[in-house]
Amino acid sequence: MQCGCPREHLCARCNDDAFAQLRGVAACRGEVWAMDVARRMPIARPWPAYEGRAAALARGKVGDLTTDPALVDRLARELAHWAARWWRASSAAHGLDR
Ligand SMILES: [Zn+2]
Repeated sequence: MQCGCPREHLCARCNDDAFAQLRGVAACRGEVWAMDVARRMPIARPWPAYEGRAAALARGKVGDLTTDPALVDRLARELAHWAARWWRASSAAHGLDR
């Protein structure tokens, strides 16, 4: 199946296809990101919401995967989701219930 949509503005179907291929990479990078932050910041603090600086950082971590800004945002949200998930699991392991 060939699709002529531009790489920097994928159609919905190609966006879905590319997201399905890349979400695992985003999830993996999200967990690595959370582990990295956990070494520098007290884990008692909640993981930041996907907005402002945190969102910009998340987008920067998947910006090399695609040139489509909509897909970058989608992958960044996936990355942030897995980072937050790792963060919650880790804080639970430290007895910080929330
Ligand atoms: Zn397409």
